[in-house]
Amino acid sequence: MVDVTVFRYGHRIARDKRITTHIALVARAFGAKKIIIDTKDDSIGEVVRDVNNRFGDDFEVETGVNWRKFIKNWSGIVVHLTMYGEKITDVADEIRKHDRVLAIVGSKKVPGDFYSIADFNVAIGNQPHSEVAALALFMHYITDGKWIDQEFYGKFQILPQKRGKKVVERDYVKLLMEEGCSPEVIDHSLKVQKLAMKIAERIKNNGMDVDMNTVYLASLFHDIGRSKTHGISHIVEGAKIARRLGLPEKVIMAIEHHGGAGIDKEDAAKLGLPPRDYTPRTIEEEIVAHADNLTGNGYRGIEEVVKKFEEKAGKKAAEKVMKLHKKLSEMCGIDVGELI
Ligand code: SAM
Repeated sequence: MVDVTVFRYGHRIARDKRITTHIALVARAFGAKKIIIDTKDDSIGEVVRDVNNRFGDDFEVETGVNWRKFIKNWSGIVVHLTMYGEKITDVADEIRKHDRVLAIVGSKKVPGDFYSIADFNVAIGNQPHSEVAALALFMHYITDGKWIDQEFYGKFQILPQKRGKKVVERDYVKLLMEEGCSPEVIDHSLKVQKLAMKIAERIKNNGMDVDMNTVYLASLFHDIGRSKTHGISHIVEGAKIARRLGLPEKVIMAIEHHGGAGIDKEDAAKLGLPPRDYTPRTIEEEIVAHADNLTGNGYRGIEEVVKKFEEKAGKKAAEKVMKLHKKLSEMCGIDVGELI
């Protein structure tokens, strides 16, 4: 599917909170990756994060962004949704040819510049209606209706019912089994997940931003590549499987970056991995990598882990693990080992 980011122009905190939240939820549900909102407003991100945590995905919200600067630096095409534009059915095929689309929706009257900056000015019918409806139908047309079959990986899943509501916890253990993971790998993964979630909750409670759904999924799926190999390339194999399953990009990256406290490009080449940097870059990736460091068949203390790294991977790797342990312990406000 085309990679779509939505830009919401003209968000007025007092007036538009509800409608901008709906734009964000429509963007997420219909397969966009991110929404950018010009006015700073943290409340929209909070609603979306809660939905992500329950129902999946790593849809992002960023607010307080200058539209001129953002559009200037945008590396794809720009589509401005306006009732004055070209008919969507006339331009959808053309838009679909591009990998990255920035879809702009307004609130009040938009600056005249939008019409010239945009690669396409697109109308969802040439009558005035709503930015929410315009975005939903735009996504429908440019994904050729495929948005409806996308998979969302979250804690819960809604099962379609003729009557009533059915929400179930997703059975990820079954998925790991179906992918060929051994009972030992699954047992280890569940332990890593338990510790990773404790670390993440602690850091979150200390006021830092942690994407809980990414930690939840990445910790459970981090070793899915062991269904193919127990060598170090399980990190790359795992990322491939996760991509095939349609797991969120942040989860795929956390799987690929979970080796030790990070394998840099130089070490990757020595280990026979495709030569790139596998260092965990985000807090979610660091949590998963380190929860894994502290977990084998059972949990183990940092001293034992450092010793093992020194013996097997050398001093540099051992130092990196210790550094990561200290960093996460500081963020937790307690030695991570105490959470075991
Ligand atoms: N006069 C405005 C315009 O330029 O379209 C209408 C403002 S409308 C309340 C807010 C937003 O809804 C617009 O900025 C546009 O993004 C979207 N919109 C409304 N009707 C649309 C239509 N028929 N096609 C595409 N977008 C539409």
